[in-house]
This record gives sequence, C-alpha cells and structure tokens, in this order.
Amino acid sequence: MDEPFRTMPLAGWGRYKPMPCHVCRPERRDALLSLLDGAAPGPVLARGLGRSYGDTAVNRNGSVVDMTRLNRIRSFDPETGELECESGVSLSEIIDVFQPRGWFPAVVPGTRFVTVGGAIAHDVHGKNHHRDGSFSSFVDSIDLWTPALGVLTCSPAQDADVFWATVGGAGLTGVILSARLRLRRVESAYVSADYRRCANIDAALEAFDTTDEDYTYSVAWVDCLARGGSLGRSVLLRANPAAPSQLPPGPAGKPLHTPRRFNAAVPFDFPGFVLNPLSIRAFNETFYAMNRPVTGKWVDYEKYFFPLDRVLHWNRMYGKRGFVQYQATFPPEGRAGLRVMLERCSKARRASFLAVLKKFGEGGRGMLSHPMRGYTLTLDIANSPGLVPFLGELDRILLDHGGRLYLAKDTVAAPATIAAMYPRLDEFRAVLHRVDPEGRLGSDLARRSGIGLPARETHDV
Ligand SMILES: Cc1cc2nc3c(=O)[nH]c(=O)nc-3n(C[C@H](O)[C@H](O)[C@H](O)COP(=O)(O)OP(=O)(O)OC[C@H]3O[C@@H](n4cnc5c(N)ncnc54)[C@H](O)[C@@H]3O)c2cc1C
Repeated sequence: MDEPFRTMPLAGWGRYKPMPCHVCRPERRDALLSLLDGAAPGPVLARGLGRSYGDTAVNRNGSVVDMTRLNRIRSFDPETGELECESGVSLSEIIDVFQPRGWFPAVVPGTRFVTVGGAIAHDVHGKNHHRDGSFSSFVDSIDLWTPALGVLTCSPAQDADVFWATVGGAGLTGVILSARLRLRRVESAYVSADYRRCANIDAALEAFDTTDEDYTYSVAWVDCLARGGSLGRSVLLRANPAAPSQLPPGPAGKPLHTPRRFNAAVPFDFPGFVLNPLSIRAFNETFYAMNRPVTGKWVDYEKYFFPLDRVLHWNRMYGKRGFVQYQATFPPEGRAGLRVMLERCSKARRASFLAVLKKFGEGGRGMLSHPMRGYTLTLDIANSPGLVPFLGELDRILLDHGGRLYLAKDTVAAPATIAAMYPRLDEFRAVLHRVDPEGRLGSDLARRSGIGLPARETHDV
C-alpha cells in the first residue's frame, strides 16, 4: 500500500456496518490529482464529513479521499454573494466566516457539518425547498476531476450533462475540486417562528397545503408512535427571516451574531436497551408538550436550522449496532402512502424519536436529485433483528404510491427498487460511460443499488 493511504473501517452517520477502506487525506489540489491519476488503489471515492447516513460515502476495499483538508475559500464578491471555494469547505466554516458579514448559505440541511462537495453530491434540501429548491439552485459551476476527461469546469451552460449528473450523483462522476456558489444576504441570524400543533397526519398535510406559502421555512416533527385518530400527530415549526426591528433589545443590538452555546456530547455508545418504545414514547410526549403553539417567536439560526448539532456524536445514542435513516418522498397523488407507512411503523413499534415531515416544491434538474413535488417523511430506525425485511416493506409501500427514497440515507434497497424510483438512471449512466468508461470510481452504494456501471468496476485490492 502506498504511504498516504491508511486502512480503516468507515460507515455512514448511522454507523451501520462499517467497512474497511483505504483512506487518504490530501491537503493540496496537486497532491490530490497525482493520487487520483496514479496511486489510489481500487475504485476511488471522495468523502466529505461523513454525514450521509448509508453507504454512499463508503467504498469497501477501495480508496476513499477525505476532502476536508481541501477547504480553502478562494474568493468572495460582497456585492453579489458569489463565493468560490474548495469542495472540502464545510457549511459550518462558511457560516462562521460569512454570517457575521450578513451572508448565509441559501440552502442548509439539518446539520451544518457537511461539506460543499457532499452538499452538491446529494443536492441537499433544506426547510425552504418549497420556496427555493435544493442546493444546486445556488451553484453556478464546479471544477470536477474525472478519470476520462481530466479536470472539467461544468455548469448549467457548459458540459451541462456532466453538471446535472454530478448534482445528486453521489460522487460517481468524479471528484468535485471546487465550486462557485451564491450565498444569500441576511439582515439577522434569527427567524420569527410560528409553532402549531396538528392532531393527526391529515391536519398536518392540510396545514402544509393551505399555509406553507406564507413561510420561507417549514418542517414538522411527527410522533410515529401515535395511533388511531392521532396517527401522525405533529408539531409544525414554520418561520420567516426576522428583521432586526422584530428582535428584543439584546439580539437587536447584534442581529448577525448567534449566542455561543456549550455543546453537549454523547461520550460513549449507549447500551442497546436505552432507546426503546417506552423511552421514545416519553420523549414524544415531552416534545409535544414543550412545543406549545406560539406565533412570532424569535429563534436563532443555530437552534432553528441545526438543533441536533447541539449534541455532538448524537449517533452514539443508538449503540454499537447503529441505525438507519429512511427518507421517503410521496408525490401529491400518492400521499395516502404516508398514512400507510406511519401505520406500519406504529404497528411495528419501530418508530424513531426523530421523525420529520416536509412538503417539497418542484424537483430540480439533477438526474438523481432526490426532491420532487410532494411530501417527504424521514425516520430514524435502530438496527435490530428484522430491520432489513422491515425496510423492504417500507420500500414496497413507497413503490406502490409512486414515491422514492433518498440515496443519501438509503442503506439496503435493491437495484430494481432504485431503478423504479429514479427514471433518469439511464441518462445518468450514459454520462458515467463518458466520464468514467473504465469504472475507476465506485462506492458501496453504487455496487449495492446498481446505480454505477456494471460490475467491472469492482476490483478489490
Ligand atoms: C443531522 C443530519 C441532518 C441532515 N439533514 C438533511 C436535510 O435536511 N436535507 C438533506 O438533503 N440532507 C440532510 N442530511 C444529509 C446530509 O446533508 C448529506 O448526506 C450530505 O451529502 C452530507 O455531506 P458530507 O460532506 O458529510 O458528505 P459525505 O457523507 O462524506 O458524502 C456524501 C456523498 O458525497 C460525495 N462527496 C463528498 N465530497 C465530494 C466531492 N468533493 N466530490 C464528489 N463527491 C463528493 C461522497 O462520495 C458521497 O457520495 C442530514 C444529515 C445529518 C447527519
């Protein structure tokens, strides 16, 4: 093994089944390119901060290039908000530098600990998808290393097929070296939030349908253990940007600064019995009780956008066996599937204590981008006996209702399932034939779910 590579087990954020990978962590673009052009053993994959849940950032017995040291900001235009940076820059770093100057990423997922490369590779969505679309709506161009064509600058206007295959393409078209993004101007680092309780899933969907357009940001927490007439009871947490004049004297004096908080950490793997239907029920009751209906509550960005980031290593709560996250999106005409899925989860008592529901707006142009018009439900499910057949049942429900699961979260779905959910897969594969005809790139997700090129790319070291 060449020296820059260390062999270590890697998994997704769910810590489900770590696999041995050969990992390198280059610091400069030329060192990265020389590794990619020669020394990397087996199929190659870029990795960001490992916040995807399943096996998309895992490459068993292949090379994994950790991009997090390639994190330089190259330029910023304070007139337009255009930022050029290396792909290993995290949204957290961008926020630290630019929020105090009145700029913020236009789309953020539920954690700030993702890299720009990872955000593009899964075309991540935020709480404003119904208004603004996904991350790629704010990406002007990328520099991409590909095995066959070398380094390309691609954009919606230049090598557009490569651009739209890379957006949401799970790292399989090449290594994103850098990107040009547009940040959004903000007046404060606070939102004005309205919290509303909904007695069941029908009431929550009704509220999304009738009033979501009044809010820039919208999401609901769902109690997956509730049954009968309370099935899918929810708390809607919706908000608009807060103007400094709406803030009380303290924050109004420093509207672009969020309070410094002590982040708690989960110091070790919890024993498997800690998270069980009883403890989850207790959590759900507390959450429902704590989030009383309120309007115009000012909440800082950290608390509103990234509540989980306040507990470091929270994924250890699921113990050594880890967990999976399952994200299912149903089109409007298939929304009855949400009820079927919640009923199945409630009956199986496999519900997570973090279940989130959101309404998506129009889908984007990425060939494998996940969002499409409809409703998206996200469940955390502990790894316990019977998990895989249970996920198969959820896949069946989703397929029967014309839905799709999210590749950043997927762990076990079969090739036929993914092919039925992503109608542009052939277009995506045509781009792979152009940029990587010999199958130099690969990942566990690609091999397991069949989205990569056929098996010639799997050559163990
Ligand atoms: C608490 C939490 C909340 C989340 N909330 C949301 C949410 O609201 N919306 C949402 O969409 N997602 C959400 N996610 C998922 C997360 O945003 C995505 O999985 C994201 O891709 C992770 O980025 P990363 O830098 O950690 O990438 P990794 O997980 O390391 O990698 C993800 C993929 O990106 C590829 N990749 C990474 N860097 C590069 C590069 N430079 N070039 C080419 N490919 C690259 C990898 O090969 C892999 O396929 C959440 C995750 C967590 C843990």
